[in-house]
Amino acid sequence: MQAEIITIGDELLIGQVIDTNSAFIAKHLNKIGISVYQITSVQDDKVHILKALKDAESNVDIIILTGGLGPTKDDITKKTIAEYFNDTLVQDISVLENIESIWKQYVRQTLLQVNKDQALVPSKATVLMNTVGTAPGMWLEKEDKTFISLPGVPFEMKALITNSVIPKLKDKYHCPFILHKTLLVYGLGESTLAARIETWEDALPEHIKLAYLPSLGKMRLRLSSKGFDRKKVEEEVQQQIDKVLPLIKKEFFGYEDEDGNEETVIANQLTKIGKSLAIAESCTGGKLAQLFTTHSGASQYLKGGVVTYSTQSKIDVLNIPKDVIDANSVVSAQVAEAMAQNVLKLYKSDIAVSTTGNAGPTKGDSNAEVGTVFIAIATKIGVYSEEFNFGNNRARVINKAVNKALEMLQK
Ligand code: ATP
Ligand code: MG
Repeated sequence: MQAEIITIGDELLIGQVIDTNSAFIAKHLNKIGISVYQITSVQDDKVHILKALKDAESNVDIIILTGGLGPTKDDITKKTIAEYFNDTLVQDISVLENIESIWKQYVRQTLLQVNKDQALVPSKATVLMNTVGTAPGMWLEKEDKTFISLPGVPFEMKALITNSVIPKLKDKYHCPFILHKTLLVYGLGESTLAARIETWEDALPEHIKLAYLPSLGKMRLRLSSKGFDRKKVEEEVQQQIDKVLPLIKKEFFGYEDEDGNEETVIANQLTKIGKSLAIAESCTGGKLAQLFTTHSGASQYLKGGVVTYSTQSKIDVLNIPKDVIDANSVVSAQVAEAMAQNVLKLYKSDIAVSTTGNAGPTKGDSNAEVGTVFIAIATKIGVYSEEFNFGNNRARVINKAVNKALEMLQK
């Protein structure tokens, strides 16, 4: 079973908005065994949309569109779909009621004709009720093909995909189970890792696929398989993981969670072992703390953090002795370790992590080489730090430092 996703909107083609809808939809289709054959983005343009629909229809069984369902003139998806299906638009009374109730509750202004027109849908369509917005989703069938049109606003699209589209697709198509298991591996380059696991990789069964996804000091190693017997698929993939893990024992970090975040792996471990964390950041500017707090439940283990960016703030907030800074440089093992130890005390946490470095582009006050970063981990028993050089691109240095800190926290 294959699908195509067509995202519609001029904003996507001028680089103003990044198409995140497709990634969300693809992920959820994959979970129920529907693979995505192609993702296409087109302008709010009738001819382009019609062509995309025709192409998709010749390639796949399921076509999902997002965008262009709004009340404004530039949103033309609905009219275009009606034309594609040789259909006319008719008013759907339940959609109109939904619009009226949303208006009454949240907007409290006179309902305009353009708003009422959002209740117009192709007569051949089944409405997918949008409970969080005014533009309805639509489900149309043509022979054995399914066309689904959804609003472009991400949270409206997400609600419709989760609550209506996926359950309906599951009902309609008998799909195989697809499994992706992603291992997070740190500190090995792509080719080194490939050489290390070559024998294992060569012996992988044909139907289990392996992918390397490298990024800034970490590697995601994804194993994928599918089949109708879910238990068998899971067991086969697990067998392969059991074989490869001893080869990457030191570098294996954990499994990527559903959202693809390794900080969640650490968060889960900290929660599980009942340990609390504190963070003192300089060159990473709060990025580490931000990563952790992105996930709900962070308050269970994250006590807090400080961003002591200036040298003076390290003295004032974290009590780093001025002579330690003067004797060693603010970018040094001594300062990183003192930051971790002092933030540990400040927050009375079990574990603390700190970063101090020079992300560039110039040498600055610290006089440290651009790219030099010290990261320290402190616990009640002791402290240790490591020195790195992450190169001369500021954004990369910061991201690599964040990834390295996550890696060190894991160990
Ligand atoms: P509504 O009637 O609820 O406004 P709509 O279908 O008219 O829905 P659009 O006008 O196409 O929605 O898009 C609304 C906003 O949603 C866009 O300005 C953009 O910020 C966001 N958006 C649209 N398509 C995508 C996409 N593929 N990925 C991420 N964001 C998107
Ligand atoms: Mg639009």
